Formats: sequence, structure tokens, C-alpha cells
Amino acid sequence: MIPVTKPYLPSQQKLKDYIDSIYERQWLTNNGVLVQELTQRLEAYLGVENLLLVSNGTLALQVAYRSLDIAESNRAATPEAITTPFTFIATASSLKWEGVQPIFADIDSNTWCIDPEKIEAAITPNSRAIVPVHVFGNACDVEAIDRVAARHKLKIVYDASHAFGVRFRNQSLLNYGDASTLSFHATKLFHTIEGGAIVFKRKEDHQRATKLINFGITGPDSIGELGINAKMNEFQAAMGLCVLDEIESNVTARSLVSRHYDKHLPLCVERQQWNMEANSNHAYLPVVFESQAQALAVLHRLSEAGVTARRYFYPSLDQAELEMGTGQTMPVSRDIASRILCLPIYAALKPAELSLITDLVKEVVAS
Ligand SMILES: *Cc1c(COP(=O)(O)O)cnc(C)c1O
Repeated sequence: MIPVTKPYLPSQQKLKDYIDSIYERQWLTNNGVLVQELTQRLEAYLGVENLLLVSNGTLALQVAYRSLDIAESNRAATPEAITTPFTFIATASSLKWEGVQPIFADIDSNTWCIDPEKIEAAITPNSRAIVPVHVFGNACDVEAIDRVAARHKLKIVYDASHAFGVRFRNQSLLNYGDASTLSFHATKLFHTIEGGAIVFKRKEDHQRATKLINFGITGPDSIGELGINAKMNEFQAAMGLCVLDEIESNVTARSLVSRHYDKHLPLCVERQQWNMEANSNHAYLPVVFESQAQALAVLHRLSEAGVTARRYFYPSLDQAELEMGTGQTMPVSRDIASRILCLPIYAALKPAELSLITDLVKEVVAS
């Protein structure tokens, strides 16, 4: 059995040592020493400031919207945020959960990221924010998005769940927007089992979010505003510290897997057009086939051989069973979603397994 991904399991001994230290301190959560240490080490590793660890990537999005006053509205009308239909459900559902209506803007057919020109067309008097996704870790057109946001006084929250460690023009991609959110779910490149983070542009927003994730408590006897519980605990941070120690070798191993695919996938399959000024973190291996029928044939053939590929992201969120209530149709996103498969990528994938996969893909595509 070859899964589409495997959670990265770091040195068990190192994790045990961290857990021993947790037992000694008997400090399990509420900004413990390991959470503080992981915060500092992530800020240094990623090249960012104002990083706040939270309990998962979905709450990272929700707390970011709240911290930036996207969710709260004094106006009678429902606030709106413009986002991409080609993403994991949490990008749009987190908006809806916070009472913000997602409005889709279609993606670029080559980069599969939100198309800045289509953002502009989706703006209404109720628009409050843009929520783009660096999909599969591919940097969005951040400068064009900045210009649109500035022209229309909109906030930007990047869902950077896939973009751990991605650098754009020699600085962290996470430094763009008013905030960027990360998911540290077990299946992500860097993980804390469950977990996430928000990187804020401004210190004030970070300070506010620090209180929001702890029920809005501002002091021993005071609750400043409506908050929630979104704190990361010490066991999550211990896993994160161990995974971070091994991140370089993990990414290197994955880059070799990527290289195999680059060399051996048939030329007729479409690959994501990468932002030339950003690096890749090799988090995913998406491939677009010539038709939905061909993608499904590949999925089936791989599955017969014990290989799991995933239709990721399918369906496009404008055609999902869970209605986002936009009534929109996004032709580019639907087209890509219908033909895409994510192929297996993880550090422990062996050359023989990789050859099996690419041989099977070639066989189906040639037939
Ligand atoms: C994984 C993911 C999330 C949700 O993160 P969780 O940590 O699982 O809550 C949100 N957006 C995108 C694009 C994701 O891939």
C-alpha cells in the first residue's frame, strides 16, 4: 500500500525527552515553555515576526478574521470576503462560520491561484477582505493582490496552509498580507499533530489575537472581549520542535521525489506553473490530465496496484454539495478540479515505488 502522504514521524527518543520535561514541569498548556520555544524557533526559521501558535489551521483562519475585524460588522449587511473556489473546504467554511459570506473569484488556469483581475470584478460595497490561498505552496501574485486591496481598502488574509518555508524574493512569503495562516495538521509538511499559526503584519493585531485565543481574557479579573479557546498545548509543541529539527532532510528527500516525477511523468500531463520568484517546499505533487476520464482511469489503475492518489481539490467549492450560498459558477476552477490528481509524495517513498507509480501513469496516458 502506497498512501498519498505519510505523517512525518521524527526521532521517538527526542520526543520522549521532551515529554519527560513536560512531566517534570507539570505545565501542560497556556503558553508553556515549549510553545514559547517553538514560537521563537519558527519565527527564526521562517524569517517572520508576530507569529502566534494556535490549536489548528481552521481556528488560525477564524482568529485572523476576528483580529482584523473582518467578521464583526456594524453595518446591517453581511460582510463579504473574496476567496478562491480551488482550495480545501476550511478556507471558505471558516468565513461562513464567522458570519462572513465567501464570494469566489476564479483561478488562473496555469498557476491555479486566485486571479487578481477576477478579484476586482467580485468586489461589492460589502467586501471587507481578500482570502487568497498559496495553493500547493505556489505563491500567489501577491503584489497584484496588494494593489487591489489598497485600491479598495480591503484586508488580506492569506491561507498559507501549504506554504510552510516558501520564500518569495528572498523573504518569507508569510510577510505578505495583513495576516497569513498556517496549518500544522499531521498531513502537512511541517506538523504538530494538530496545530496552526497566524503570522501578523502588525504587533497590535498579534497582541489582540493572543487574548482572543484565550477566551478574550485580559487579566486575572478581566475579560476584554468575546474570545475562544484556540491555544496550542505543550505536547503539540514538543512534536513541532522534533519535526522542525528534521525539516531540512525531510524537504530534501521530498525534492528528490519531486525530481523523479519531473523526469518520468509523461510530457502530456499539465503541471502547476510555479511562481518564478519563489521556491518550492515540495509539499504536494499535483498533476492535471487531459480529461476527467483520463484522471479517473489513472486513479483506478493506481488503486488496483495499491497506490492512493487523491482528487485534491475536487469538487471546486462552487459546485460542492455543501452550498456556500454564492450562486456562482467558476469555470476554470471546475475544469482543473475535474482533471487533477495529487500523487504520493513523502520522504520515505522509495525509488522502486516511484517508478511503479510513474510507469502506471504512463501506461494509462498512452492507452
Ligand atoms: C489543512 C488546510 C486547512 C485547515 O487546517 P487544519 O489544521 O486541518 O484545521 C485550511 N486551509 C487549507 C488550504 C488547508 O490545506
